Amino acid sequence: MKTIRYSMLAAVILEIALVVILLSAFGRLSFGQPFTFKVRHDHWRGGCTGRLTIDDQGIEYRTEDGGHSRNWSYPDLKRIDIQSGKSLELLTYEDRKLIPGAERKFEFELLEGEITEAVYRLLLDKSPRPLLARLPYGSTAPVFSLGAKHRHRVGGCEGELQFERERVIYRTDKPGDTRIWLYADISSVGLLDRYSLRLTTLLETYTFDLKLPITSEQYNFLWAKVYHLEDPYPASARASRLASKHV
Ligand SMILES: [Zn+2]
Ligand SMILES: [Zn+2]
Repeated sequence: MKTIRYSMLAAVILEIALVVILLSAFGRLSFGQPFTFKVRHDHWRGGCTGRLTIDDQGIEYRTEDGGHSRNWSYPDLKRIDIQSGKSLELLTYEDRKLIPGAERKFEFELLEGEITEAVYRLLLDKSPRPLLARLPYGSTAPVFSLGAKHRHRVGGCEGELQFERERVIYRTDKPGDTRIWLYADISSVGLLDRYSLRLTTLLETYTFDLKLPITSEQYNFLWAKVYHLEDPYPASARASRLASKHV
């Protein structure tokens, strides 16, 4: 009797193992909710259509157009750019054959649905590099705000800088110029004078003309956030040094 039970158990385990192997071989073994969109992949001329799946493993594009199907894990993507609620651009590490020094971009236009805050959160959570987010997803009450003009090579765009607890949002009506920057992703900030502020990330530099001068309290807040100075010598640092003496 016992032997029969054990053999049944073994059969069940074998079955589960087979399902797992099949899933990982033919599908992506994913535990989060995947987002799937019907999209158009823009080419230099024309385009192809297919399905884009974004889940906790990476981003996959499937199309009938032979050479364009791809399956990227997040570390394979050099830059994820949420250009709007309807378009996503992925910069890869693939070299372009005809343009030396350039890497291949994939531009997708959503034919249905949109890049919601839930998609943004998933990308933010999974991408090892800073995201380029051109929509003010999930904004919260700012600590302070400053009216500003983003300087372009010629002219600029007007908007508002909103300094939240964990990020800065620049809101503007100019399509594509709104940004979310996490303080953790800002590599440096600079003040040329009290009316000119520069923010630099791995991806870009934004220089602003401020409509009102930034106060020293406001700049100190920004400085502390970017350079992690909120608690420069926490109690735990001392405790661990003393602790190590006894080892
Ligand atoms: Zn294509
Ligand atoms: Zn601008």
